[in-house]
Amino acid sequence: MTLQSQPVLTDAAREDTTDSAAELAAMVGPVTIHLPGDPAYDEARRLWNTAVDLLPAAIAEPTTAAEVSAVVTASRKLGLKVAPVSTGHNAGPLVRHDLTSTVLVKLSSMTAVEVDPSTAMAKVQGGALWGDVIDAAGAHGLACLHGSSPDVGVGGYLLGGGIFLYARRLGMATSSLTAVEIVLVDGQLVRADRTQHQSLFWALRGGGGSFGIVTSFEFSLYPLATVHAGMMVWDIDDAERVVRAWAEWAPEAPEEITTSMRILNLPQSPDIPKKWAAVRSSAWTAPSWPTKAVRRASSLLSGSCRRESTPSRRCRPARSHDSIWTPGPDSGHREHGPAGTTDG
Ligand SMILES: Cc1cc2nc3c(=O)[nH]c(=O)nc-3n(C[C@H](O)[C@H](O)[C@H](O)COP(=O)(O)OP(=O)(O)OC[C@H]3O[C@@H](n4cnc5c(N)ncnc54)[C@H](O)[C@@H]3O)c2cc1C
Repeated sequence: MTLQSQPVLTDAAREDTTDSAAELAAMVGPVTIHLPGDPAYDEARRLWNTAVDLLPAAIAEPTTAAEVSAVVTASRKLGLKVAPVSTGHNAGPLVRHDLTSTVLVKLSSMTAVEVDPSTAMAKVQGGALWGDVIDAAGAHGLACLHGSSPDVGVGGYLLGGGIFLYARRLGMATSSLTAVEIVLVDGQLVRADRTQHQSLFWALRGGGGSFGIVTSFEFSLYPLATVHAGMMVWDIDDAERVVRAWAEWAPEAPEEITTSMRILNLPQSPDIPKKWAAVRSSAWTAPSWPTKAVRRASSLLSGSCRRESTPSRRCRPARSHDSIWTPGPDSGHREHGPAGTTDG
């Protein structure tokens, strides 16, 4: 299902494609199909990344695995290509392709989430969002290995790897995947896990959406009721000293801490020293605040710190997000209620 770049179509070929797209709508019955010129086509092609302007031959919005299979089977018969997308967070690469003969399969109507607290497992549809999984799992004191924003799709994140707060201790999110149901290029719906279609299951965990359209994901959840997260921010002029101090501290920090160093060009904000800033963030997946490790980080880093920031927050994994904490001896946390997440 990998998209291939293709030469510019002749007028005759373009007409063929238009006919095929119209035929697709007739072949897949109740599945919602938007064709160029339809009133809803422009709205349907708007994705999370609004900078991306895609003009596919048709947009399909299936609601079930059977409908996904019908779209893939019909597209194949009509010589159309297929490109799955759940949110469009990573729609950027699609602009490199001529989509004149491609059906965009939008999974945004397939967002159901089921959590089984007795097995600490989740089963979600292929277009589910992390925010929905977080809420459903959090209601049982369980956490999923979500991304930094609640509107990131489970699909692209899990198929691509997925690293956020829990990665150092619990691994990449895709390693917690236990099974998928996937529609293959011939329209067949199969289950892939450690016992069936093992090679496919192996390839899917990191291989992205190149092997078919995943209609459901099953993955493990973890008994984590609370996560502490914070971010320290420095003036860019201190970046070199901060990076060195962080590099000394990070390898010895407890495994429960996942930490990253970033150089960011941030919008102006009273909490941030100036437009360019060096940032470090970390998280803790244990029941208590890692006072010793944070003190050590603070003492190493405070010499480099030109300006202090606000304290860290403690929150449900559900809505954890990099808040900003105060480097220095008083770096104990302050409790906050669940909050919205933000871009990572
Ligand atoms: C605000 C923001 C925060 C982020 N935070 C993190 C983070 O904390 N950690 C991290 O590792 N990454 C993070 N990312 C990167 C994110 O994981 C990737 O952009 C990911 O591809 C998004 O998946 P999606 O399903 O939402 O996007 P989409 O653009 O819908 O999907 C990306 C690609 O995945 C494939 N795909 C998606 N769903 C399916 C499916 N059901 N079946 C088959 N193929 C499918 C398709 O090839 C699609 O083109 C973040 C991105 C953003 C924009």
